[in-house]
Amino acid sequence: MLKVGVLALQGAVREHVCSIEEAGAEAVVIKTKEQLREVDGLILPGGESTTMRRLIDKYDFMEDLKQFAAKGKPIFGTCAGLILMAKNIVGYDDPHIGAMDVTVERNSFGRQRESFEADLDIKDVAENFNAVFIRAPHIVEAGENVEVLAKHNGRIVVAREGQYLGCSFHPELTDDHRLTAYFIEMVKKAKNEKPV
Ligand code: GLN
Repeated sequence: MLKVGVLALQGAVREHVCSIEEAGAEAVVIKTKEQLREVDGLILPGGESTTMRRLIDKYDFMEDLKQFAAKGKPIFGTCAGLILMAKNIVGYDDPHIGAMDVTVERNSFGRQRESFEADLDIKDVAENFNAVFIRAPHIVEAGENVEVLAKHNGRIVVAREGQYLGCSFHPELTDDHRLTAYFIEMVKKAKNEKPV
């Protein structure tokens, strides 16, 4: 069975585990960097990117996360997870993992809209996806190999670049598992292309 990890240093972990299981794969709660070797794909959950970054450094995860990406293994960054995987962050000199060729802006939907829901048309995934945004980032700029899968009010909120998938919202907070299922398809394909 496909194994998909959820980085469990902080943030919405349990809901992602349920979502992965609903979508038909085995979920692994990743608490140590050694566990990254066990999994075929990885979800970076929402939470608080600066806190997660501190914990990534504290538990010495960074090099292994970069290697995971360099091996071509799929990564799905949701909300703060998208910020962790972006190559550029507005207002910061350096990225975190810096894997996906996008520029993101944090908390970019404004204070008065700290959290909201929106129905999205996500290419190849769903025409009516109910998305929960919580102090969400958005993608300001996408590199040439990045495919934009959804926008909300003209802002990019779902995108894919090869093995990387990123979204601004929290797909694990509803019963709609179609975006997670789409990611699991990516993991399946990557695994079949590169048998271990
Ligand atoms: N605002 C958070 C950050 O910048 C992300 C919010 C979230 O993951 N729900 O890290």
